[in-house]
Amino acid sequence: MTEHCDILIVGGGINGAGIARDAAGRGYSVVLAEMSDLASGTSSASTKLIHGGLRYLEHYEFRLVREALIEREILWKIAPHIIRPLRFVLPHHRGLRPAWLLRLGLFLYDHIGGRKLLPPTRSVDLRQDPAGIPLKETFVKGFEYSDAWVQDARLVVLNARDAANKGARILTRMRVDALERRDGFFEARLTDTETQTSRRVCARMVVNAAGPWVDTVIGLAAGAQQSNVRLVQGSHIVVRRLYEHERCYIFQNADGRIIFAIPYEENFTLIGTTDHDYRDDPAKVAITEAETDYLLLAAGEYFKTPLSRDDLVWAYSGVRPLYDDGAGQAQPIAQGLFSHEVDYLMDFEWAKTADDILWRRSKLGLHLSVDEGTALTAYIASRTELTSVQATQLQAS
Ligand SMILES: Cc1cc2nc3c(=O)[nH]c(=O)nc-3n(C[C@H](O)[C@H](O)[C@H](O)COP(=O)(O)OP(=O)(O)OC[C@H]3O[C@@H](n4cnc5c(N)ncnc54)[C@H](O)[C@@H]3O)c2cc1C
Repeated sequence: MTEHCDILIVGGGINGAGIARDAAGRGYSVVLAEMSDLASGTSSASTKLIHGGLRYLEHYEFRLVREALIEREILWKIAPHIIRPLRFVLPHHRGLRPAWLLRLGLFLYDHIGGRKLLPPTRSVDLRQDPAGIPLKETFVKGFEYSDAWVQDARLVVLNARDAANKGARILTRMRVDALERRDGFFEARLTDTETQTSRRVCARMVVNAAGPWVDTVIGLAAGAQQSNVRLVQGSHIVVRRLYEHERCYIFQNADGRIIFAIPYEENFTLIGTTDHDYRDDPAKVAITEAETDYLLLAAGEYFKTPLSRDDLVWAYSGVRPLYDDGAGQAQPIAQGLFSHEVDYLMDFEWAKTADDILWRRSKLGLHLSVDEGTALTAYIASRTELTSVQATQLQAS
């Protein structure tokens, strides 16, 4: 028997569940199919922040930041039981933008519109404030600003629950594995992954909310392989609790990337995230040795107490599906050195180690700091690891 609906949503992550809730609330008949459990994809592997996107200010994305800040407080009002305010401490050092520029950015973050309830930015004297205690003594001054924390997977389930209350059909363990356009409708074949039985859904519209699998789902309808998204892996480590107070830290590393340290589940600290291209099955994503080293090293640059693998309790990884406009995105590894350049040197100019890149070809060793050299080594290690995984898979297939 074929079930009819206005909208078939493929994917039960935050996008699928949020769209289901919105569409059902507008009176559409909605079927949402999730091949695994709700929030089993990227939506449970995030840093769990409801943020305004402070960093987007650097790219003059004022409208985006304003909208995100407005949404931040709307979400907090709707779901205060799973969302709570956070304060972030940004320790200042010479490698960062000048203090006046950071103050200006944070002033904008406070006043661009949207922040009504959360407390504003303030300067912090890290020699006096408890936030300075776990940090190395070289950090004397910082800034503190607001964002919010969310139980990311709960946010998905609650959206799905509310969608169901508004009449949506939420089907989990239900994979969409065929999609065909017929007489102005989409006909989809759904397979129950537990019983292997199939059913058909005929929909006026299909929403592809399949996250990192979005190209696979387009491929079902288009009948050809697609490559519209770039998959970028991000991993977090969970370590024993590193400090007593409740605030979080935002650290900028020598390679220009940001990592957060956030109090997590009473006894732990969450540290993340990494950011590198991923080419395997999103369902198999797992933290690499190089990512673990990178996060331990990056946090160790700021915290007094050295961090080691003995402190690790758990780790998780997710895959960001980023729209690929064909230009790709140059990921900075160090001042003046981008991932694309390193990729090229490794792929076409036989570079194998950081030394090959630092000295033999570009004399970059003269210009990069020790930290930047370390970041380059970590990048090369993660890439080499990926290549050997792919080679093993090729041999196996
Ligand atoms: C490391 C990391 C940190 C992040 N931190 C933050 C943060 O702090 N704050 C923030 O706002 N965002 C953050 N993000 C981004 C955010 O997590 C993602 O934008 C969001 O989770 C994407 O949700 P989604 O619903 O599009 O995808 P997913 O959550 O991946 O959902 C897609 C779903 O589709 C299902 N699916 C796929 N194919 C099929 C099929 N054929 N049939 C049925 N179901 C299918 C999958 O099983 C999956 O559950 C982070 C991302 C990463 C990777």
